Amino acid sequence: MATKQRKAPPKRASSKPGRGRAASRRAVQEPLAEYRRKRDFTRTGEPKGGRRSAAPKLAYVIQKHAASHLHFDLRLELDGVMKSWAVPKGPSLDPSVKRLAMEVEDHPIEYNAFEGTIPQGEYGGGTVMIWDRGTYRYGGTDADPIGGLRRGYAKGDFKFVLQGKRLKGSWVLVRTRRGDPRRSQWLLFKHRDEFAEPGSDVVGKYQTSAATGRTIEEIAAGKRGRRSAG
Ligand code: MN
Repeated sequence: MATKQRKAPPKRASSKPGRGRAASRRAVQEPLAEYRRKRDFTRTGEPKGGRRSAAPKLAYVIQKHAASHLHFDLRLELDGVMKSWAVPKGPSLDPSVKRLAMEVEDHPIEYNAFEGTIPQGEYGGGTVMIWDRGTYRYGGTDADPIGGLRRGYAKGDFKFVLQGKRLKGSWVLVRTRRGDPRRSQWLLFKHRDEFAEPGSDVVGKYQTSAATGRTIEEIAAGKRGRRSAG
C-alpha cells in the first residue's frame, strides 16, 4: 500500500496545557493530523477535513413572566447553566430598537421547560409562559465558538444566532453598566439580516405559549395545553 512520503516531521504530537492560545489552537486541529499525513489530497477525492463542525447548538428560551411587572426572561445556555436576562419590553425584530436587559441569576437548564404558576408571595410570583424556545449558536468571528461565547460574555459583547420557533437570526447583548455582576445592565437588539423586521411588534404578535398554545390567562387558570388536549 503506497503512502505519501512525509514532507516534514509531524509537529508536536501533543501540546501541554498552559502554553497559551497557539498551543490550544494546535491541540484542537490535531485529531486529523494522522488522517492527513496518510493521504495526498491532490490525488484522492477523499475530504481533507478541517472545516469546523457547525458551532454547537445550545439551548435558548424566552419566558413571558406576568409577575408584579410583566417582563420577558431571555435565557441562553452557557457552561451548563442558563445565563438569564429580564427584558421588560421583550425582544424586537427592529434593529433600531434596543431593549434594556437586566442580568439576573443563572437558572438551571431544566427551567426551560417550566410553564405554570409561581405562588403569590414567592419569589417571582405570577404566571410563566414559554414564549419562544429552540437553540442558539455563537454569532461572532472567533474560531472557537464556546470560547467566543465565554469571551463575549466576559467582555459584555455577546453575539448569538437564534433558531427559535419565533425568533431567528443574529442578535447581540451589549453590556452597558457593570454593577453587581448579576445585576448588570445590557441592551438586547437584533442585527440586520433576513430575519429583521423594522417597525414590527413581535411581542404583540405572539400572545400564546410556543409550547402549549395557551394564553397567560389560560396558564394561570391551569387550563390544559391545546396540544395535549388534542
Ligand atoms: Mn422573571
